[in-house]
Amino acid sequence: MYDESTPLTKVLDKREAKKFKDSREIETVRDLLAYWPRRYQSPESNLAAARPGSYIVAVAEVKSATTRSMKARRGRMLQAVITDGSKDLEITFFSAHGHEGKLVPGTRALFAGKVSSFNNRLQLAHPGYSLLSDFDRGERRGLIPIYKSVGNLHTWTVTECVRMVLDLLDESPEAIPEEILDRRDLVDRTSALRGIHTPDSQAEVDAARRRMSYEEALVLQVALAQRRARQAQESTLARVPRPGGLLDSFDDRLPFTLTAGQVEVGRTLAAEMARDVPMHRLLQGEVGSGKTVIAVRAMLAAVDSGGQAALLAPTEVLASQHHRSITAMLGDLAEGGMLGGSEVGTRVTLLTGSMSTQSRRKAMLDIASGDAGIVIGTHALIQEHVSFQDLALVVVDEQHRFGVEQRDALRGKAAQPPHVLVMTATPIPRTVAMTVFGDMETSTLSELPAGRAPITTHVVPEAKPGWLQRTWQRIAEEVAQGRQAYVVCPRIGDDDEPDEDAEIFAPEAASSDPDGEGDGEDGNGEDAPPPRPLASVHRVHADLAANPVLEGLRIEILHGRLPAEDKDAIMRDFASGDIDVLVSTTVIEVGVDVPNASVMVVMDADRFGVSQLHQLRGRVGRGGLPGLCLLVHSGEGDAPHERLEAVAGTTDGFELARIDLRQRREGDILGSSQHGRRTQLQFLHVLEDEELIVSAREDAFEVVADDPDLSTHPRLAELVHARVDAEQAAYLERG
Ligand code: ADP
Ligand code: MG
Repeated sequence: MYDESTPLTKVLDKREAKKFKDSREIETVRDLLAYWPRRYQSPESNLAAARPGSYIVAVAEVKSATTRSMKARRGRMLQAVITDGSKDLEITFFSAHGHEGKLVPGTRALFAGKVSSFNNRLQLAHPGYSLLSDFDRGERRGLIPIYKSVGNLHTWTVTECVRMVLDLLDESPEAIPEEILDRRDLVDRTSALRGIHTPDSQAEVDAARRRMSYEEALVLQVALAQRRARQAQESTLARVPRPGGLLDSFDDRLPFTLTAGQVEVGRTLAAEMARDVPMHRLLQGEVGSGKTVIAVRAMLAAVDSGGQAALLAPTEVLASQHHRSITAMLGDLAEGGMLGGSEVGTRVTLLTGSMSTQSRRKAMLDIASGDAGIVIGTHALIQEHVSFQDLALVVVDEQHRFGVEQRDALRGKAAQPPHVLVMTATPIPRTVAMTVFGDMETSTLSELPAGRAPITTHVVPEAKPGWLQRTWQRIAEEVAQGRQAYVVCPRIGDDDEPDEDAEIFAPEAASSDPDGEGDGEDGNGEDAPPPRPLASVHRVHADLAANPVLEGLRIEILHGRLPAEDKDAIMRDFASGDIDVLVSTTVIEVGVDVPNASVMVVMDADRFGVSQLHQLRGRVGRGGLPGLCLLVHSGEGDAPHERLEAVAGTTDGFELARIDLRQRREGDILGSSQHGRRTQLQFLHVLEDEELIVSAREDAFEVVADDPDLSTHPRLAELVHARVDAEQAAYLERG
């Protein structure tokens, strides 16, 4: 009669359809069928579970019902008592209209609603109910699905809409190839949809969930497999360094010996860049493991071969810092074409959005002419009017801020597809790597260069008298020994929203209807007292400047809204030791490298994600000095405290990444949570469903190898296109 793409307006009552759309963005039959019940209830449940404030669903019989007129209002009110055989509960409707004919003594129905207390008696006011005769047509075995509320529609109405749609739906086209269904023991789509919405048993729900999750995993993996297949067919120039050229000269000058890991990754990159198929490689390595040197060596190989290399950084501060440190690392090798420069030398050019028009123009000319062998920049590099003479290698630093689309945009600037190296310091669990970076090969740097001192982390509860002052004291002591300190705050000024660079962790319980089952009239308990305002860079700077313990110290501020020159000047002064204490936002989070900094204080640390705190503290303990990180929090609850203790308790980035990811919504892992639910996963749990993801990946690569365009799998092709389109649309929306 209709298929999954039919709009709900054609199926449901107009007003209901509108509620689905407005409240949950559910517009088609497919969307509705993907609206998974949040839990299931057994029909044997009883009224004994009723507590004030709880939401119950129970089969019960109407024991008595009375209708009476009300004094204050017109109309009549219905009061009834229902029973499950052992316990009674009162139910009330302020308007008897439409109910009195149905809820007559002896009627059995499924009731659902929020229990309240009135005159010391428990009752259900305006419960939803469904008479058993027309609810399940006699069969009473099934589980009862409970949906999250949709506007003010009752979970009941949602159930009825879904049932109606399921009953009238044609056979759903199957996306998963038949032999895979068999091999992986998966139920077909139509059964899965019924298993989700009208299950007879928990086993049926589980099988349905497994199948739907698998389908999602397969769609993702097929998209990645196709991407890989396309990449493997691309051809490009092999980039081989010239003997006695830039790379050799650089290696000769390196002040340290590369670690075994650095040597091995270096070999891998060299071998892949020497092929005429573009490299696509992800390099993971803990903070401070020495990824930058690896990138620089690959970039020099590219320049040696006559091409250019671009390094894309997520923030201006990081881009400038890379520019400074790479220029310094290269020494006279960065003075190509200049008096006194090395004859094999090249030039390192910076391009960021906030540079003056004049220096931008100059930079763009150098890039277009090829004079700039190494180009370092932010998003500005992706802009259309930047053109390269011969872009051979793209390095993306700290990938977690860049999406596939950004990588593509930069790749598009090369005549031949460039080789691509992505570097990340956030350890990525295997299944996430497979899902998010599934089109790339992965290398991992597991050892840190020798001479790294351990970082000690402590949690500082601000409420304990004297602890905060002791924290500032510690800074003074470090500075007295010639060291430097960072103080990180979640926002810039007192009137500002939290720092836009920060992945601020919203405190939980923001939702007004935590169970999502209620009718929107959730009378929550008392509100917590307002916490003190979030620490801001300006406020903390003023406090520290006035704090006698820190008298005479040079304290400066750094945040993303300062003009580029100021940011640069401050980072330079901090790097050279002219600033003792830097009060900043998370602009210093990634890659900033000042070996003399030994202590970091993070204000309102509970507002940051676990991995982000781990990244932040990686800024200290880099110069062979033991690092100290103090996580200050003013929170009351235990949850933030536990997270902070986890960070304090381990320096294993993988462990922390898992903790972090577990606390985020799955959609976040794919980096698209703020761009609508269309790009999010509905069923698949990227962390838990490892077995599913691994088998879907195998199957996907097999399917694509046999049939690259999926011409024999039309339904699968459709789903893959829809997903890829949605991701691109989300990228474009982001601008
Ligand atoms: P990452 O980018 O992985 O966080 P960096 O590349 O910034 O780490 O390296 C951190 C610091 O370690 C830098 O100061 C760098 O010069 C230094 N370093 C890198 N490799 C080695 C090595 N093999 N031996 C000693 N120091 C190294
Ligand atoms: Mg780095």
